[in-house]
Amino acid sequence: MHNRDNQKSKLAYWVGDGKWADVVFPEQEELVLLCSRWEVERSPEYDKYAELGHVPREALMQDGWNFDCLCCDRAFCKDDSEAPVFIDKKCFCSQSCYALYSTKEKDG
Ligand SMILES: [Zn+2]
Repeated sequence: MHNRDNQKSKLAYWVGDGKWADVVFPEQEELVLLCSRWEVERSPEYDKYAELGHVPREALMQDGWNFDCLCCDRAFCKDDSEAPVFIDKKCFCSQSCYALYSTKEKDG
């Protein structure tokens, strides 16, 4: 596989194994490594987030992805969570879960 236009802007790739998935913007070498471990597919619809370095969880959720709440382990999607909280890659199904997790984290 060779990047024909050799430009700096990265491309979005879906990476997953059936149970878990993410969208990443790997360097060429990283991409080779990813391909050896996971299923990898080009996701041109997320190229626009390359500068950010990750696809906002909100955007993935709008596209029908679901996430596991870091606090209560509940899987949630846009249809069953009224006010999810996303902090970088951390996902919480509700404000109260986020608050609870923050408190726990502070207490160590
Ligand atoms: Zn939760």
